[in-house]
Formats: sequence, C-alpha cells, structure tokens
Amino acid sequence: MAFEGLTERLQNAMKRLRGKGKVSDADLRDTMREIRLALLEADVNFDVVKDFVKTVRERAVGAKVLEGLNPAQQIVKIVDEELTKMMGETEVPLNKSPKIPTVIMMAGLQGAGKTTTVGKLANRLKTEDNARPLMIAADVYRPAAIDQLVTVGQQIDVPVFEMGTDTNPVEIVRQGLAQAQENHNDYVFIDTAGRLQIDEQLMNELADIKDLAHPDEILLVVDAMTGQNAVATAQGFNDKLDVTGVILTKLDGDTRGGAALSIRAVTGKPIKFVGEGEKMSDLDVFHPDRMASRILG
Ligand code: GDP
Repeated sequence: MAFEGLTERLQNAMKRLRGKGKVSDADLRDTMREIRLALLEADVNFDVVKDFVKTVRERAVGAKVLEGLNPAQQIVKIVDEELTKMMGETEVPLNKSPKIPTVIMMAGLQGAGKTTTVGKLANRLKTEDNARPLMIAADVYRPAAIDQLVTVGQQIDVPVFEMGTDTNPVEIVRQGLAQAQENHNDYVFIDTAGRLQIDEQLMNELADIKDLAHPDEILLVVDAMTGQNAVATAQGFNDKLDVTGVILTKLDGDTRGGAALSIRAVTGKPIKFVGEGEKMSDLDVFHPDRMASRILG
C-alpha cells in the first residue's frame, strides 16, 4: 500500500515528543529533521519539503498551548493541517460546462493509465449522475489503445467514437465532437496519445486538440509509482497545456507517495481523483484532509 514507509517514519519522528510536558528547542529540531528526511525519502519534492518544514517549525514555535492537547499532539495536529494544505485543502469537483457537452480531455505519458481512467470516469458519471458520455479514441499511434477503449466502452456500456489509426487525431476529435452534438451526449472524453517521455511533437498535437476542442477540463493522468518523475512530468504537461486538474493513478501500488504530496504545490493544479486499482470502480475523489490522515496513520 502507498505511504507505508512514510507513515512509519513520521510516526517515529513524532513519537519522541510523546509524554513530554514541554517541547525543548532540541526536541523540536530533531523532530523536524526526522520529518524532513521522511518526506525526502518518500520522494516529496525538495522545495516543497523545505517550505513545509519551515512552516511547521514556525507554527510549532509560535503555537499557544491548546486546551486538551499535549505538545506532541499539537505538533501532530500542525503536521496534519500543513499536509492537508500542501495537497490543496479541499476536494475540487470536475468542471462542468453550462451547456452540453462538457468536454474532458485526458493527457499523460504512455502507461500512466489514461484509457483506464477515461473508462472509470465515464462509468462514474454514468452510474452516479445518469450521464450519457461519449468517449473519443484519439490515440492513433498505439493501435491497441483504440481496441482497449472499445473494450472498456463495452464493459461499461458507453459508446466510443473511433476512426481507426489512419486519420489525424485532430480530425477524429472534430468528428467525434460533431457526433456528440448530434447525439446530445452530455460529456465527451478525449483519450489522447501518450509517449514514453514528453516530446515536442506530442505536445504540439495535444495543443492542437486543445485549440479545436476548447475542453472544459484537461486532466493530466500521472502514475504515482514514478515518484519524482511524476512531478517533472506534471510540470512539463502543465507548462504546455495549462491543465485544469490531475488524476494520480496506481496509488494502490507500493508507491512512496511523494507525487501525491508534491504535485499540487509544484504545479498549483488540484488533484481531482485518485486511481486505486485496475477495476472500473477503483476511482476515488481526492480528499486532501483524508489523505493527510491516512499518511499520518
Ligand atoms: P495509458 O497508456 O495511459 O492509456 O494507460 P492504460 O490505461 O493502458 O493503463 C496502463 C496500465 O496501468 C494498465 O495495465 C492498467 O490496468 C493499469 N492501471 C491504470 N490505472 C491503475 C490504477 O489506479 N491502479 C493499478 N494498479 N493499475 C492501474
């Protein structure tokens, strides 16, 4: 499970304060050093860790003794609140267009989980909101990607618009959007191509699709297992596309979790959902406060 190592280390860091009536400067310094190391080891971005530690230290030093909380509990509370803040404070819902269809474009590296996540989101909207989504298969470079989306569509009973691999993706999106208009679909998902790494051609193609489709939401799908790279990837995509949100996948895996903790702070973009498994139902709204509690164990 994600965060196991981090949880254990944070708990150990704060254990030394337990039972103390007063926290000395040395205690606080040691604790903060341990917290800093724990976060760095969990792959949290260096600058994010620096800011976090500084804020927690300042708050801990300036804190008035709260009734009912001993010093250790008080620091746990501050860490909890600052972790929550780091991840964005509150959940951020999907953008919705005032007139149908709401267009949601997906972006991300190959293997990040775009196609799976399109299915999960469409399935969620369909079952929870009675939505009538259409999914557009615009990944023409990996032939299996289209088949994969078609299979997902059959599984969740959501139509897929595809034109094979011989048509330009921008044209596929244009025709897909026209079909959505005609069929009164209320949501359109655009499943785009990924690459193993960010490259200029891919980014230009995504920018062209964005210009044509004017998406209400551009969701960047990021594999949490890729650690620091997840953050670099998010920055690269965000610089070019100005994404509106992030979906972190594979949080069910054995990830150290740093991506979940850094992405919001580094990109300024909210994590909207997290993927925690391969099944269509394995998608959860991202709640920063609940994630902070989970991390603290
Ligand atoms: P794409 O290339 O970005 O479209 O990625 P895919 O949707 O094909 O996903 C790549 C692999 O990751 C597939 O085997 C998915 O089943 C798997 N996957 C996607 N999301 C998750 C997740 O949240 N948890 C786990 N464990 N696997 C996932």
